[in-house]
Amino acid sequence: MCGIIGYIGKKVKIERLLVDSLKTLEYRGYDSAGIAFVTDKVNILKSSGKIINLEEKIDENVESNIGLAHTRWATHGKADDINAHPHKSGSVTIVHNGIIENYLELKEMLSKEGYTFKSETDTEIAAALLDYLKKKGIWSNLEVIKEFETYIKGSYALGIIFDDELDTLYATRKDSPLILGIGKEEYLIASDVSAIIGFTKKYILLDNEDIVKLTNDNYEIYNSNLQKLDRSIQEVNWDVEEAHKAGYPHFMLKEIMEEPKVLNDTIHEYVESVDSFMNKMPDFSKYKKIHIVACGSAMHAGLIGKYLIENYSDIEVNVEIASEYRYKKVFYDKETLLILISQSGETADTIASLRKAKADGIDTLGIVNVVGSTIARECDQVLYIRAGVEIAVATTKAYLLQVAMLMLINIKLMIEHNKITNEELSKLLDDLKNSPELIKNVIEKDELYKDIANSIYEDRDLFFIGRGIDYAISLEGSLKLKEISYLHSEAYQAGELKHGTISLVEDNTKIIAIMTDKDLALKTISNIKEVVARGAKVVLITKEELDSNYDFIFKKVVLPKANNYLMPLLTVIPLQLIAYHVADNRGLDIDKPRNLAKSVTVE
Ligand code: GLU
Repeated sequence: MCGIIGYIGKKVKIERLLVDSLKTLEYRGYDSAGIAFVTDKVNILKSSGKIINLEEKIDENVESNIGLAHTRWATHGKADDINAHPHKSGSVTIVHNGIIENYLELKEMLSKEGYTFKSETDTEIAAALLDYLKKKGIWSNLEVIKEFETYIKGSYALGIIFDDELDTLYATRKDSPLILGIGKEEYLIASDVSAIIGFTKKYILLDNEDIVKLTNDNYEIYNSNLQKLDRSIQEVNWDVEEAHKAGYPHFMLKEIMEEPKVLNDTIHEYVESVDSFMNKMPDFSKYKKIHIVACGSAMHAGLIGKYLIENYSDIEVNVEIASEYRYKKVFYDKETLLILISQSGETADTIASLRKAKADGIDTLGIVNVVGSTIARECDQVLYIRAGVEIAVATTKAYLLQVAMLMLINIKLMIEHNKITNEELSKLLDDLKNSPELIKNVIEKDELYKDIANSIYEDRDLFFIGRGIDYAISLEGSLKLKEISYLHSEAYQAGELKHGTISLVEDNTKIIAIMTDKDLALKTISNIKEVVARGAKVVLITKEELDSNYDFIFKKVVLPKANNYLMPLLTVIPLQLIAYHVADNRGLDIDKPRNLAKSVTVE
C-alpha cells in the first residue's frame, strides 16, 4: 500500500530515475503519484491517477543527485493532484506513508500558530509540524525529527528534505515499512526491496523510530535518543528478472504458473526427510488451543488450517479477522498458540493483533513471505513460505504456500498427538512432495477454465458453494473473482443457501460448486439439485474418485486422484485461473485492481 522512494548519490536524470523507480512499487496499490527533487531548490511534480500521468509531466534532462518519490493510497482526502504527495510546508518537503491519527489536534495547534493548509491530508500537517519545530528552537534537523516523533500518534514512513540542508536526505519510520538500500556511491530509501534491486542488493531493515541521515557518500542511522546505531546489512536473495513478467501478459498469470515450483521449493526446504522435518518445525506440544489471525486470503488459508487441525489433530482452532481481533475480547492463555499469517509481514491489523497477544504473554508464530518484515521479526517464531516476490495484488502463490505451511504445521501436530503412524507419515510426506506435479496437471487444463470463464464473464452475480473444507476454498474463489473481475459473488456453505440466499437463484444463475470430500458428497449433490431445480447452471469442481455422469451439471472440472489431505492445494487452482480469465475477458487491470493495495499497511 503506497510506496516511497528516496535517492541520493550520483548526478542523474533525476525525474526519469524517480518515475522509473516508482513503477517498481506500482503493484503495492495507489491512486496518485508525485516526486520532489533538488536543483538550487526543491521542485515538486505530482499527478492523480496512474504514474503515466506523472510521467507525461517530467523533464527528461533535469539532473540532480537527490530526490523523493511517492505513490499515494488515499486515506485522508480524495485522490487528486492537491492531496498527492510530496507536501511542502514552509521549508520542509515530505513524502509519507501511513496515518497521522492526531492530525486534527495538531492542525488546530498549528493553525493557531498561523499555518494554513492547501490539502485535506494528514501528511501536510506532518510537514507543517516539522517546519514549526524547526522555527521553534535552534535545533539540528536530526533533533527536529526526534522532537517530531514525540508529537505524532499513528504510523509513518517519511522521506524528508529540508530547504536549509539541500544536500541531505532524511527518513524515519514507525509502523509503516521502510528500508535503506546501500549502493555504490548511492543510497536509497524505499517501502520494499523491489524498488532498490535495480540499484543494489544490499539493504538495512529500519526499526521503529530509526532516523536515517543520508548524504552523497555516507549514511547514518540514529535511534529516537539520537544515539548512532550500527544496523546489520542484508542481501536480497532474488533478482530483477524475478520481478519481470517473463513473457506472461500479467503477473497474476505468471505467479499462478509458478505455483508448482514455489510449492516444491517450500516443501523441500521443510521436508527433505522425516528427521529434517522434525528439526525444522517448532515444538507445539504445550498448546491446547490455536488462534489463527489474518486478513483476506491469508484468513481463508487459516480456515483451511482450522479444518485440517481440528479434523486430524483434534485441537480446537479459532480463525479470526485481524481488524476485529485486535480490538475484541480474546479468550487465550499460556496454552494458546497465536498463528499470524501475512504475505508481506507488514499487514497493519495483523501486526496490531500480534502486539496485543505479546503484551498478554501469548506465544506467537508467523507465517510470512517477506524475510525480515515486521511480523517475521516480532513473532516468537517464524515459518517462511518461499513464494519469492509476488507482484499481482490478488495473491495466488503466497496463498497456496500459506495453505501448504498450515498442512506442515498440522502434520507436526499429528505427530505430537500420536494421530499418525510412521508409515502414514512417510507416505503423507511423499505425497506432499509429489503435489507440485499434480498442480502442474491441474494447470494444464487451462482451456477448460477459459471456457468456463467465457460462459460467466458477462454475468452480474455468481455463487460459490461447498461443504467443510470446500467451503473454505469457496471463500477464496469468490474473493479472487471479486478482487480482479469486479463481478459480484458470494460463497456459501452448500447447506446454508436455502436459509435465505436461494431466493436470488433464478434461471441461468451460475453457481460454482466444490465437492472434494467423499463423506459430504451426497449432501452437496442434493444442494446442487436444489439450485438446478430453480434454474441455476452449476459448474462442478470435483475429483476423479467422486466423478460420475452427472447430467444435471453445466460444466465440470475433474481434479486428479490425490491424497485427500492435499486436495485444497489442487482445488484452488481452477478457481484462481477462472477468476483470472473472467477479469481478462472483461478487459480489466488484473494486476492492479481498482481501490486495492498489495500490502495493507494502514488499519
Ligand atoms: N495518510 C496519507 C494521505 O492520505 C498517506 C497515505 C499513504 O500512505 O499513501 O495522504
